[in-house]
Amino acid sequence: MEIHIFTIFPEMFRGPINTSILKRAQEQQLITFNLIDFRSYSPSKHQNVDDSPFGGGAGMVLKPEPIYSAVESVLGNVQDYHGKILLMSPQGEPFKQKMARDLAQEESLAFICGHYEGFDERVRALADQEISIGDYVLTGGEIPAMVVIDAVCRLLPGVLGESESPLADSFYHGLLEYPQYTRPREFRGMVVPDILLSGNHEEIRRWRCQEALRRTLQRRPDLLKTQDFSDEERELLAQLESRISNLEKSGC
Ligand code: SAM
Repeated sequence: MEIHIFTIFPEMFRGPINTSILKRAQEQQLITFNLIDFRSYSPSKHQNVDDSPFGGGAGMVLKPEPIYSAVESVLGNVQDYHGKILLMSPQGEPFKQKMARDLAQEESLAFICGHYEGFDERVRALADQEISIGDYVLTGGEIPAMVVIDAVCRLLPGVLGESESPLADSFYHGLLEYPQYTRPREFRGMVVPDILLSGNHEEIRRWRCQEALRRTLQRRPDLLKTQDFSDEERELLAQLESRISNLEKSGC
């Protein structure tokens, strides 16, 4: 996948993209990053990219010309671009794992990062999609773009090693992940459940399925409302719910 990032702070990306799994993915040529400073596309002598808002008000707004000029110079006519142009905005569609999976199908992604008070409204016309990483406001779109890039890239074939599959991760199948343990077997009085040491793969799989359901029921019951359950999950969930209701009845 090729990833273009339009920003006035390209240096913010160098640490995250050149570390750990994203670094390895670049070395394996699974991902290429193209950092574009749209300051260099400003028509003004001093490379200004922002101006005060019409109508007054606090802060500075990113001007449309440098952003359009940068995007069109790099991607060509946006109608013919073979990927998706994503605008980072707290007013965008909330970013979820499902969106990461959809974006991972694209050959190419382009991220536009706002900054200061945001961008001129006309920048919106450039984007295929606006994405918000949550209901809070950050100083710029760089961290949101990095969040989306990281979540998408780890889903690309070959990016995670064989031992690092995303399949059991929280949200991949709509549930939170089951509890994970590693050595030592006992730590400060906390012990690893016997089943995980039993070597019985079928029992372990079933235990994990049940624990994923339990955790989701306890922490994110909202996720269960939209979940497409398998027969086994439905049966395990019914058992869990009946156990909980019996405990409640007995006052525990
Ligand atoms: N005044 C804007 C508003 O109220 O919608 C917020 C501007 S914010 C300070 C500057 C830039 O940070 C935005 O243009 C956007 O690119 C990015 N940004 C801030 N919070 C974000 C969020 N939750 N998700 C995605 N991008 C965000």
